[in-house]
Amino acid sequence: MKATVIGAGLAGCEAAWQLASRGINVTLYEMKPKKFTPAHHYEGFAELVCSNSLRSDKLENAVGLLKEELRRMGSLIMMCADECRVPAGGALAVDRCGFSDLVTKKIKENSLIEVIECEIEKFPEENTVIATGPLTTDKLFAAIKEITKEENLYFYDAAAPIVTLESVDMSNAYRASRYGKGDDDYINCPMTEQEYRDFWNELVNAECAEISSVDKEVVFEGCMPVETMAKRGEDTLLFGPLKPVGLPDPKTGKDPYAVVQLRQDNAGGTLYNLVGFQTHLKWGEQKRVFGMIPALRNAEFVRYGVMHRNTFINSPELLDAKYMLKGSKNIYFAGQMTGVEGYIESASSGFVAGLNLAMTILGKDEIIFPDSTATGALSHYVSNPGVKNFQPMNVNFGIMEPLGMKIRKKQEKNRKLSEKALEKIEEMKL
Ligand SMILES: Cc1cc2nc3c(=O)[nH]c(=O)nc-3n(C[C@H](O)[C@H](O)[C@H](O)COP(=O)(O)OP(=O)(O)OC[C@H]3O[C@@H](n4cnc5c(N)ncnc54)[C@H](O)[C@@H]3O)c2cc1C
Repeated sequence: MKATVIGAGLAGCEAAWQLASRGINVTLYEMKPKKFTPAHHYEGFAELVCSNSLRSDKLENAVGLLKEELRRMGSLIMMCADECRVPAGGALAVDRCGFSDLVTKKIKENSLIEVIECEIEKFPEENTVIATGPLTTDKLFAAIKEITKEENLYFYDAAAPIVTLESVDMSNAYRASRYGKGDDDYINCPMTEQEYRDFWNELVNAECAEISSVDKEVVFEGCMPVETMAKRGEDTLLFGPLKPVGLPDPKTGKDPYAVVQLRQDNAGGTLYNLVGFQTHLKWGEQKRVFGMIPALRNAEFVRYGVMHRNTFINSPELLDAKYMLKGSKNIYFAGQMTGVEGYIESASSGFVAGLNLAMTILGKDEIIFPDSTATGALSHYVSNPGVKNFQPMNVNFGIMEPLGMKIRKKQEKNRKLSEKALEKIEEMKL
């Protein structure tokens, strides 16, 4: 009874731990400290490459729910994070090095886990979790590319923000497709000339996030950030993503001065992305500046626009809801390379992949989490072939099964969704 895990990041450590907890011998391959990706610097496992915040710890927030689900199911990452907590209001932030040291200690002290420090270059044959992260090394990257076919391995440098449909002010928006071509698929957010000028002015002066040295070479190669395009001239956006022609506002019968279009982002139609708004602005700036678009004044951003190098596979085509490569001999993917976005999301996918590889090796039934849980919603989202133009996704309530009852207050609704999810997790008795 033996399994392999490649990569001792958040996903790989969680996967190895879940396998070992079920009596499976694990070989965990990690190339550090012999070799480091451009973003990793610390020798320990589960290194937090950027922020030390694991985001909200509240049940009114989907990532808070995901944490609580993981805690209740015996997650190594959550156990260590809770022990290394530092004050951060409603968020769970950790002592970065203390956290990494503790995860490393637990893994190394586990008699069922053998750690081998080396870079893996070939695609594994069977019973393996690949968790080498967004900066997977070149040779393994090439091997994955060969197996999954080139077009299924993505490399992106920018993503636009996503908002919830229910937070869009539809009294300031209307549904239509340009020139009436196709169904009324887009939500159009019009702006008057004055609104546009004010928006442009704030956009070009807004503060951008720092670009790490890792990303400097790649950042502006592909799709251009909206703020960069705006800086080319006051009217440039009117000929680009904010082009108003062919989109008459039903209130006036005329094309507005400028229009921001929102495109449906998930199969359930609860999430919409801002078309052409890939951006490198700081998150707070995105909320402030994009919130100047009248229909988005109270918009809830479930994902902000981001820019960094990121390798991720086309999971909706390639993986099932256990994060297993379809048709493979128990080859699982886990972590950011599956298209889940964020530290805890990566740990969650490692949990599901490790758990299910253990189940298979033990000859037991697979465990597919329902999408009424945050764990399941994430795994279903990334493995749903209905998701087109797949982009990495943070966990959020918009991808979870709706409650089936109307609750007006968002906090209350989220709390109920969390209660239901946690009941389900308890029932699963993992
Ligand atoms: C620059 C940057 C900044 C980020 N900032 C944040 C942030 O602030 N908040 C957030 O939530 N997320 C952030 N992310 C996303 C972050 O990568 C994930 O949230 C998380 O670290 C992914 O976990 P993982 O386990 O998938 O991969 P990683 O944590 O990257 O772990 C992968 C491990 O695999 C090892 N490895 C790679 N290739 C091989 C190989 N061929 N053989 C053996 N070992 C190998 C690496 O050394 C590493 O230890 C950032 C990503 C990048 C690139």
